[in-house]
Amino acid sequence: MSLTGKNDSDVVEADEDIGMEASDVPDWYVDIGLEVHVQPITRSKMFCGCAIGELGDPPNSRVCEVCLGFPGVLPVVNRAAVEACLKTALALNCVIPQHTKFDRKNYMYPDLPKGYQISQYDLPMSVDGYLFVHGRKVRIRRVHLEEDTGKLVHAGDKLHKAAESFVDLNRAGVPLMEIVTEPDLRSADEARDFAMELRTLLRTIGASEAEMEKGQLRAEPNISIRRRGTDDLGIQTELKNINSFRSLHRAIRFEVGRQVPILESGGMVAQETRGWSEAEQRTFSQRSKEFAEDYRYFPEPDLPPLEPDRARIEDLRRALPELPASRRARLVSEYGLPALDADLIADQREVADLFEQAAIVTAKPKQVANWIVAEVLPRYRERGLDRLTPRNLTRLIGMVEESGEITRDQGRTILDQSMRDGREPGDIARELGLLQERDPIVLDNAISEVISENPKAWRDFHASDRTIGFLIGKVRAKTAGTAKPELVGKLLRERLEAEQLQNQDP
Ligand code: ZN
Ligand code: MN
Repeated sequence: MSLTGKNDSDVVEADEDIGMEASDVPDWYVDIGLEVHVQPITRSKMFCGCAIGELGDPPNSRVCEVCLGFPGVLPVVNRAAVEACLKTALALNCVIPQHTKFDRKNYMYPDLPKGYQISQYDLPMSVDGYLFVHGRKVRIRRVHLEEDTGKLVHAGDKLHKAAESFVDLNRAGVPLMEIVTEPDLRSADEARDFAMELRTLLRTIGASEAEMEKGQLRAEPNISIRRRGTDDLGIQTELKNINSFRSLHRAIRFEVGRQVPILESGGMVAQETRGWSEAEQRTFSQRSKEFAEDYRYFPEPDLPPLEPDRARIEDLRRALPELPASRRARLVSEYGLPALDADLIADQREVADLFEQAAIVTAKPKQVANWIVAEVLPRYRERGLDRLTPRNLTRLIGMVEESGEITRDQGRTILDQSMRDGREPGDIARELGLLQERDPIVLDNAISEVISENPKAWRDFHASDRTIGFLIGKVRAKTAGTAKPELVGKLLRERLEAEQLQNQDP
């Protein structure tokens, strides 16, 4: 099973054309681990005061001596990043050791001005957690803090027929949490669903916005394959350059489909890092795997060891909101929602809050859930909840589903408006002239006026029903089209009957 339809970019299509899913290779066992880099919500970078920029910022406009790696400057740890990492660790059921420290991971690359990345090696912020996905426990090996690197921008120079590359260091020093799982995932479906569940969790606890398109969440799978019945993990490849859940799914399928035939023909899979090509929908060899010793890790001498305050950790633990898995289960048990609706609603904390607040004031939680899934969620994905309140939502639902004052189509128009300006649906409906005129006095007066203004049509109506359409039209025109034709017709006939009775009386 997969959790689909959550976001336009996540829409999961049939991937039969690419590679193989674990279920296609019954003789083999697929072991997948994920290394996920997540950008915590902070105002500034990991070790300096530079603001976290936006995607469109001018290159190298968000930099300072610290994140540019000038000599003689000192890093300072960002407290908000540490707290986001602690919250994430707690939500992932991790153990948070007493002592933790930062280390230098040394390597040369043009996007790394210092020549090393400040990361965490042997004493990470947290270890030994887990997250359940579809009822299966996926172990979390560690969650640690580090900094992002800069970005290389490659531009082809047509004039000189040579490629040029530029360095943008706006992202250098941006905080990252690295979340590493054990190889507990068994299929492309599971790996994708784990990543999506992690995203929901991170958003729920407010640790990260986790937008994959903005590079705030990057998932890199490692995949190895072993023959069923053997315990030793196969040789693994690591996949890079994946920027959507769909690509994650496809890249893993491709890799399973590539590795299994190699093993079946008696060959060996090369231990390497492979890139995912979105254009060609395949992985390609990038470099042979490097090992920890290649990085010459050593403790960061410019930062003191970090010893998170135990009382603060307990405060953070207590302040965690209800986590998605438990809320999903509760939406089913408490409100009787179908599992799929509960999934979709619990996926976004503010949507789930809206649902519960609205469900309290109506006796029909399923009706509210239907409206949220069918009408609110598609709008939410475009622009968030904006100014929609639970009360306005329930009033709107009542106007469509209970009193029938407006049609569902009109309800959609009012929903758009109420999300934009936060106004009461009844007010909007009146202003738009959508409310049906049902006041008997108003309608009666309108009918009297029409009769006196159209005596011939009224006399004709006594003889035949043919003029009723004309009369209905005239009455509706007097109510600006807001009276229901059926209702007006019924009132006209009643008036006719009453007149005929009166005429017979003497
Ligand atoms: Zn800086
Ligand atoms: Mn990392």
